Amino acid sequence: MEDRREEPVFLEPVVSVCPLGDATAVDVRVVAANVQAVFDLGVDILERSPLPEEAFLADRRQYDAAAVLRHLDAMVRPPFRKILGVTTVDLCIPVFTHVFGEAHLGGRAAVVSSFRLRTNENGFKASIETYTHRLIKVALHELAHTRNLVHCDNPRCLMHFSPKVNHLDRLPILFCERCRYLLTQDWRRPAGMG
Ligand SMILES: [Zn+2]
Ligand SMILES: [Zn+2]
Repeated sequence: MEDRREEPVFLEPVVSVCPLGDATAVDVRVVAANVQAVFDLGVDILERSPLPEEAFLADRRQYDAAAVLRHLDAMVRPPFRKILGVTTVDLCIPVFTHVFGEAHLGGRAAVVSSFRLRTNENGFKASIETYTHRLIKVALHELAHTRNLVHCDNPRCLMHFSPKVNHLDRLPILFCERCRYLLTQDWRRPAGMG
């Protein structure tokens, strides 16, 4: 079929959610459902994939988030345009001791990790509800980065930079009006235009 899209891409297949390693089926489904509902996008869940071995940093006992993103990026298949990995392993990038998630700004791949989301700042286990909300928030935040959204000054917006779980907990599962507008513009751009 000829791929001449002049119509806005809306609820067509857009985002693949990919379970990495031992990500739980519940987490994967919760993330997929929220991506679909909040962004109003077509979402599909891929087969489970092992984490790329080359991403493991033996000296840090963590996974290099950039290498995980490269692995995910190579898995994007049309008509899907974005891929979101869900993992349980601890992710890091060179300048941070750890990250909750990572994405290529304006790129195709994003990843969220549950590793740091299960405990509170005081070391106690978070409630399942708090944990789930954190997972959803990081997933939506990272995916929005792939749609060119940068960090937002509004402390009540999902694009606010939240390096700690207690910061995440203060956020609603919502983008501010400005970020929401930017997202709508970007998602509706026809395929092939970025
Ligand atoms: Zn961010
Ligand atoms: Zn915002």
